[in-house]
Amino acid sequence: ERDSVAAETTGPGRTADGHPVPLLANIGGPDDLPSALRNGAEGVGLYRTELLFLDRADSPSHDEQVAAYRAVLEAFPGGTVTVRTLDAGADKPLEFLSRPQGAEPNPALGLRGLRMLRHAPGTLAAQLRALAEAARGTEAELGVMAPMVTDVADTEWFVAAAAEAGVSHAGVMLEVPAAALRARHLAEAAEFFSIGTNDLTQYACAADREISALGAFQDPWQPGVLDLVATAARAATATGRPCGVCGEAAGDPMLSCVLVGLGVTSLSMGAFALPLVRAALARTTHDQCREAAAAALDARDARAAKHAARERLPGIA
Ligand code: PEP
Ligand code: MG
Repeated sequence: ERDSVAAETTGPGRTADGHPVPLLANIGGPDDLPSALRNGAEGVGLYRTELLFLDRADSPSHDEQVAAYRAVLEAFPGGTVTVRTLDAGADKPLEFLSRPQGAEPNPALGLRGLRMLRHAPGTLAAQLRALAEAARGTEAELGVMAPMVTDVADTEWFVAAAAEAGVSHAGVMLEVPAAALRARHLAEAAEFFSIGTNDLTQYACAADREISALGAFQDPWQPGVLDLVATAARAATATGRPCGVCGEAAGDPMLSCVLVGLGVTSLSMGAFALPLVRAALARTTHDQCREAAAAALDARDARAAKHAARERLPGIA
């Protein structure tokens, strides 16, 4: 018993019947590496690079960026490291980026993520060049992905910018519902997808994630959100594109099984959640994940979805 518990809390993520589900860490910089490694992350599924850029008068230098990115890549020889390009907006303004619009009444619906970078292509190009250089000579596989992608034009623009800078493995986050609904078409340009359930939920339920009074809508168990995840994962499967989840939902043990059942191919989360999710998957077969997913999709509301999943996932809190 002791051995089996130890075995399920270390090693690569897999279901009870051996279906692999890479378990990756969300990090904000090299300081988060010790915890990611201690908790057995197989790679990084979301490197939020904002920290490097916030609260400073100038853009970080090329060398400073290369050092931060290389430290992360070197920690995962043979693994994948997916770096998200700068996700700034009116709520996280950068002093060195001019904002054509100035103050925005709805920052979440404004010029943020890739939208901001399309107005500051030099900042994106510099970041991508630093990433390409950081990856040179390391044994990790670098992937770059753009936040707040809305359509095919955004996707094509970002993938071309990455190629131009020498980064060949480029994908997009699915966190805008329009993008999730059209993943089949985005897949023509994007090499992979990563679903950001935090923002996807915010936008699907039209509930600002900063407003705690709207907490009931900021729930990835909302069947409308699960429908969007299912649509995106189905499109990814049909087009042969990997499709991970890197929002908080990936770190919820029961929901992680549902996401795998919906067709999600990897899970990225705060490092503390890795052992819990690893253990939950190890106790659950791929078929049980699919049954729980189907039942959750059929439910009429978030509570019922959770209840239906719990009934089909014995042994998971
Ligand atoms: C998300 O939106 O789910 C996500 C992972 O990105 P962030 O929380 O940084 O917006
Ligand atoms: Mg997001």
